[in-house]
Parts: sequence; C-alpha cells; structure tokens
Amino acid sequence: MSEKTTKKDKKEKDLLTKRKVRKGAKTKPDTAKTEKSESVKSAKPSSPARKKSRAAAKKTMPKKSRELKDLDRYIIEDEDMVMPARPGKMLRVIPLGGVGEIGKNMTVLEYDDEIIVIDCGMTFPDDELLGVDLVIPDTTYLQKNADKVKAVFITHAHEDHIGGLPYFLRNFNVPIYCTALTEGLVSLRLQEHKNLKDVKFKVRKAGDTVKLGSFSVEFVRVNHSVPDSCALAIKTPVGMVVFTGDFKIDTTPVDGEMIDLVRFGELGKKGVELLMMDSTNADRAGMAMSERRVSDSFEREFKDCKKRIIVASFASNVHRIQKIIEIAAKHDRKVAVSGRSMENILKVGSELGYIRPDKNRMIELAQIKKYPDDKVVIITTGSQGEAMSALYRMAYSSHRQVDVGPSDKILIAASPIPGNEKSVYQMINELIRKGAEVVYERLADIHVSGHACQEELKLMLSLIKPRYFMPVHGEYRHLKCNASLAQQTGMDSENIFLTDLGKVLEIGGGKARWGASVPSGRVLVDGYGVGDVGTLVLRERRLIGQDGVIVASAAVDMYERRILTEPFIVSRGFIFVKEAEDLIAEMEQVTRDALNFALGRKDVGIKAVRDAVSDKLSDFLYKKTKRSPVIVPIITSTPSKSDILRATP
Ligand SMILES: [Zn+2]
Ligand SMILES: [Zn+2]
Repeated sequence: MSEKTTKKDKKEKDLLTKRKVRKGAKTKPDTAKTEKSESVKSAKPSSPARKKSRAAAKKTMPKKSRELKDLDRYIIEDEDMVMPARPGKMLRVIPLGGVGEIGKNMTVLEYDDEIIVIDCGMTFPDDELLGVDLVIPDTTYLQKNADKVKAVFITHAHEDHIGGLPYFLRNFNVPIYCTALTEGLVSLRLQEHKNLKDVKFKVRKAGDTVKLGSFSVEFVRVNHSVPDSCALAIKTPVGMVVFTGDFKIDTTPVDGEMIDLVRFGELGKKGVELLMMDSTNADRAGMAMSERRVSDSFEREFKDCKKRIIVASFASNVHRIQKIIEIAAKHDRKVAVSGRSMENILKVGSELGYIRPDKNRMIELAQIKKYPDDKVVIITTGSQGEAMSALYRMAYSSHRQVDVGPSDKILIAASPIPGNEKSVYQMINELIRKGAEVVYERLADIHVSGHACQEELKLMLSLIKPRYFMPVHGEYRHLKCNASLAQQTGMDSENIFLTDLGKVLEIGGGKARWGASVPSGRVLVDGYGVGDVGTLVLRERRLIGQDGVIVASAAVDMYERRILTEPFIVSRGFIFVKEAEDLIAEMEQVTRDALNFALGRKDVGIKAVRDAVSDKLSDFLYKKTKRSPVIVPIITSTPSKSDILRATP
C-alpha cells in the first residue's frame, strides 16, 4: 500500500513535467532526459551524434523549463523524441465501434488538428436487420473532420477490424499502415470493390515505428488467431497510449513468434498513460490454450484414420492451415481446398511465406476422386454454418465436387461465434445424418480461442501499469469484467473508463475526463447501398415479413371525379390468392367504395384518395383476418380527359 502511495505522489510530481518515469526517476533526477533517452533507445540504437544532441539539449534547457508551462513551448531537437504538447490541448479517445458490442471495431485518437484511426471493421447483422448484408461504424464524426484524418492503422486482418475499409476508403483517401499479411488480406477484400484504386498501403512489421505529426505509432507483436497481429504503442503529446488489439499470450506459438512481452514491460516501465485492451474473453478464467494444442489434436485425429478427412476452419487462421498441410504430409495425404476465401488465403499466405504448400502435395478439388479416402484431406470454409459456404453445401448435398458420406471424418476447427450456434449445429446434424463422423470443439480440442483470458489480461495490466484503463472489444458485460480485473491488479476504479460508442475520453495535463459525445452508431450495408437502409425501412421489412403486402391499384380521373380503371388487388406473403378469391373480390369492393367515397368529396386531393384506400383496406383486413399487411395503394390520377386519352394505350 505504502509503495502505491509513494508511486502516486511521484506520479503527481512527474505530472508537472508531463514526463512519467516510474522507476529510475530517483537515480536520474532529470526526468525529462530519462524519458528521452529511453525512448530514443527503444526507437533505434542511439548514435554518438544523437547522444551529442541530447547533451546539447540538456545544457540549453534550464531547469525550470521542465515545468508544464515552459515545456508546452519546448521543442525537442531530436525528431524521435516525444511530441511537444500544445497548451490547452487534450488527447481525445473516441470509440466508434467495438465497445458495447463484438465487432466493427474502430477507435479514433484525436489531438488538436490531427486524427488517426485504429481499425476499420464490420459486423454481421443480427436477425432483426432483415436483408442487411453487413454493418459498419457510423463515421459521421470523421467525415465532419475529414481534413484532420491522417491515417488508418490496422492491428490485424480479421473482418471485425478490416471489413469496413472498402466503405471507409470511399470517403477517405488516407494511408493504411499495417503488417504484410494484413495488407495481403485487405487487398483481397478490396478487389471485390473495383472502384477503389490507388489505396495507399504502408506495410510495416512488428517493432517498426511510424511518426505521423503529433503521433508516433509502434507496432508490437502479439499472438492471435491470425498471424502478423500487432498491438499499437502510440506516443502522443500527453503520453503513451497502448492499444492491444485482439491478442492472447501463446508461450508455444506454432510459428515460434511469441507476443513481445518484453516490449510491453518496457513500455510499462516508462509509463503508459492509457491502456485500451481486448475484453472478448474477460469473463473466462485462466489462460487461453496454445495453438499447439490444436495441432496435437489434429495429429490424434489423423493417426490411423482410414476415412477421408475434411477440416473446416477460419480461412484467416493461416498457422492452422499450414499445420494441417504439414500433418497431411506426414500421413501421406493429398490436400485440396474448397471455398473461395480458403483458396484466396492459400494464395496470399503462400506468397508471403506463411503457408508453404508442397507442389506435389496440393491437388485440385476436381481430382480428389482419383485418390483413396485415406489419402485425401479437404480444407474448407463453412465452420460457422454460413449459408452457401463450402461445408454448408456439402451438408445439404449441393456441393458439386464433394459428396459427404460414411467414409468421411469432418473436423470443425472453430467454435460457433455467438449467434451462429443454431446454423452450425443444424449443419452438423445434417452431416451426421449423411453418415459422416463429425468432430467439433465440444468433443476434442480442435479449436482454441485467439483472445486472452483473465490471467493473461491481468498479466498485461501488470506489465503495462497504465494510469488510465479503458476496456474495449466486447459487449458491456465483457468490458465490465475487464474493468474488475484491472481493479484486482490494484487500479483505482476512478481511473477505469467504461465507455460507449461515441463517448469521448479527454486526456491531458494529468487529467482524464469525459467530453461531449460525437455521433456514432451503425450504418447498414445492403447490396450497393450504404446507409440507405434505416429504421423506417427495417420497420417496413419487418411488417412485410410478418403479415405480407397488399397492393391495391386503380386509375382515377380527378377532374371528373370518377374511377377510370377498376381496382386490382395483388397479394404477396399475405394469403394464397388461389384459395382466397372471395377475399380478393371483397378487397376490390372495399377499394372501390373507398375511391368513390373519397372522389365524392370535392376538396379531396389524390393523396387523400390513396390514404382513404389504405385506411379502409387495413380496417377491413384487420376485422376479417386479424392481420395487418403492409398496404400499398397505387392510385394513378389524371387531371383531364385529353391527358387520359394520351396516357391510356
Ligand atoms: Zn481478431
Ligand atoms: Zn476482433
């Protein structure tokens, strides 16, 4: 406890200089210099020239210039050094997606007239969003501040972090900083959107730092279910911000590239102002299992298996795909892939060296019948039971090349994403009905999560020791769990910020506070339409879905106030017309009566005529059937006789 208080006191003291050094401050009284030299060291090995310039800076910097007021004006010579703070300016942290929800991750960091965007994801629509293809974050705030937006940084290549880019890039032509595999997968995605040209990719690798105006962003390696995933350590004028992105700690990763815990520890030592951390598994105790465990399970399933093996996995889990290819080789099986995203990943993954398929090992799907069952593996998409995915088509007998039967063993190496359970288990039932042996997560360890569980999250919190903490990437319950983990590691609840979409956290001058919220929410994408499906359209879709639609058409002469063509009723999703001819005839009579009634009143215009038809029909149908279909009156009007003659063929 006492250690905590001294730390806190020291923190307050350091605040004055805006340079926080948690350890080593006592031995080196010049805190500003300590921070500087450390940061230089981390960026690149310090050169003699740089040392000289630092020494010069120290000499010319009078002691009192370290006080807040002067420091604001103090411009540090070394380019790699901390960005100088501007008086009265605070760092604004704005989540536009990924908090209070799983998916469509997007976070905005704003300082003065500069904005950087972290991730640009999408999410799949839930059942209530009828007909919607995908959901992306509302970027109204960014559009209003378009000239401030400097770049997008992508942490990794999952859809919930990159899927919104094709839409985002229509409005913002800014560089995208990401790692090589992420670039490869984003490019694939962009190919589907042909109007996007000249996208400015800036490929970086873990350990690289990008200096961009007031920000300096370092990519830090993490483990996750797609390779080349990174956290971001963002140096800002108000201090260091660490954004973990999706991560877990895998001490035995299959590619041998472990999360850079040392770097996180270094960052923590130097002082981190704000940590934003993945909350997806914050409600799960313990540690996430290593991907190696999955490889071991695959080994077991392959061993002595006489059946054809079909493995469904997320295409983006490149390590797992490589591992399956390796195990197939060991058991002398040929490998074929099915599903477009799987074919794509094989291409991109091989180009970048993440997948190393042996040319003699890979075969076309069309060739599988040439080999005995125990000499073939098919790697396929469809682990989420997505309609039209390859495994789904196999289950429902609509796959052109693969007929599933008793001689198949199917490994579903993924757990259903919440919301997909029903379709996944339906698909599994179909596969089993066909006689196939199906192994899924509940039966064997053939999938592990890519997200840190409680012990890993606490370890990260202890390494980073942030002044402020903001849980991200999760529904509210996940964020809350993550917050309580932080409290367990000793953080004060007042320094933990449970946020919401569009909520602005302002940090600066040793303070953090909520600012005025910005517009946020979801934008629905349906076909080519972005944002044109709103609540009204959805309400209509829902109503049509519930009780169907009735179209009542007729033509009237508004001048002579009479019906020109008799009412005609079309019904969709309401009743089966052939068995309800009487009801249709009655509806036509109701329409006729409504038209005559409305036309009989001199002051009534065409709109009121239409309203009369729809009101009368709706009353009639509710009384008769207790249903409320959507009624569409198509009543065309003609003002004069001559017009009618011209208009009627
Ligand atoms: Zn992810
Ligand atoms: Zn994610």
